[in-house]
Order: sequence, then C-alpha cells, then structure tokens
Amino acid sequence: MHYVQISGSKTRYGVGKVVCVGRNYADHARELNNPVPAEPLWFIKPGSAVVSMQKQLIIPSDRGECHHEVEVAVLIGKTCTAINERDARDAIAGIGLGLDLTLRDIQASLKQKGHPWEIAKAFDGSCALSNFSPADEFPDLQAIEFALDINGKRRQTGSTQMQLFPVAKLVAVASQNFTLEPGDVVLTGTPAGVGVLNTGDLLHCELNGKCIAELVVVAR
Ligand code: ZN
Repeated sequence: MHYVQISGSKTRYGVGKVVCVGRNYADHARELNNPVPAEPLWFIKPGSAVVSMQKQLIIPSDRGECHHEVEVAVLIGKTCTAINERDARDAIAGIGLGLDLTLRDIQASLKQKGHPWEIAKAFDGSCALSNFSPADEFPDLQAIEFALDINGKRRQTGSTQMQLFPVAKLVAVASQNFTLEPGDVVLTGTPAGVGVLNTGDLLHCELNGKCIAELVVVAR
C-alpha cells in the first residue's frame, strides 16, 4: 500500500483508491474531441496504481503513447457516504497534485469499442501523487492554480476556477456513488495540454506557484 502524509501532521494515510473524473475542464474535453459532460464521468484507479511523485516516473515502454494529465488531488480524511457539498468540504484533509497517466493509444481503441478504460488508466504506476498540504491552507477550493512543465517548457496550466464541477461537488457526488474512506484520493480532472511522455523528460509540477515535485521519466 502507498502511504501519504499531510505536511505538519504525523498521521499517515494508506491510499485505498483514487476516484477520478474525466473531462472536468472544457478546454481538455475539446482537445480530445469529447463532448462536455452534463454530469461527472467517473473512473477509479486502485491503490496498487499509486506511486509517489518523487525523483522518477516509471512508464510502460511497450504500450503505445503514455500521456501526462496533471490534476489537483484531494485527500479524503473521513469516511463519507452520500454526503452533501458542505460536508464534503470538511471531509477533505489535504490538497496536492496527481499525475493521471493514460495509455492513450490503448484508451482510444477501448473507447472505439465501447469498452471500459481500466487497462489504459489503472495500471501499476498510473497515479503519481505529490505530498499533501493541509486543506485549511486552501480557503477557496475554486482558486487553486497548478502547472506542469516538461524540460523547462510550460505544457499544462490550470485553475480550479475553470472546472465544470467544483471540488466539493465532486467529492459529494463521488460519495453518492462510492463510499470514500480516509486515505482515498479524488483526482479532479486535467486542463488542456495533455501530451506524450518520453524517456528522459524532466517534469516540474507547481501548486499555487510553488514547485512541489520534480521527476524524470524512465521507461519500464
Ligand atoms: Zn485525468
């Protein structure tokens, strides 16, 4: 099991599952020629998919294109089932960043056949998580800025202000479908700019203007 901690706290959380939302930014939905959804589009990565966003990012080398999607990651601190948006705010223990790695060629062929995406989205190492900061450091969950640079070039930039479904709503709606438990993570969607990762790429991740992770891509 992968464990995460919130800076300034000794509590460790084992990550059980990562509940992810697709197409939560209109600009990203458009870049992949997908319709903008009327309700959140959910998928789950198992705890076994989680690695830490540290030093190296190991990607599969023989499964076609592996794309980066940088996303705001929400660490759940309480068990919640079918909660409302207000309670969702209280259930969030920490905020960080996640990389939702996607085997895009495989996903495209699964989508074409109308099949589930799991093997493109839930493989080992497909979710890299940064360290988490306490949720109280983010009084406005809809004003979180984040970015991903690759080899010194800005590739993805986002603000939760641009989300189709805001963070508290996502947590509430997620909990209506799947009980969320302490240590679960909700990935809140990626803005435009997704693209292929190559061996040797240097990734630099920023949350509210601060670098929180730097790592180099290595092929498995
Ligand atoms: Zn994603």
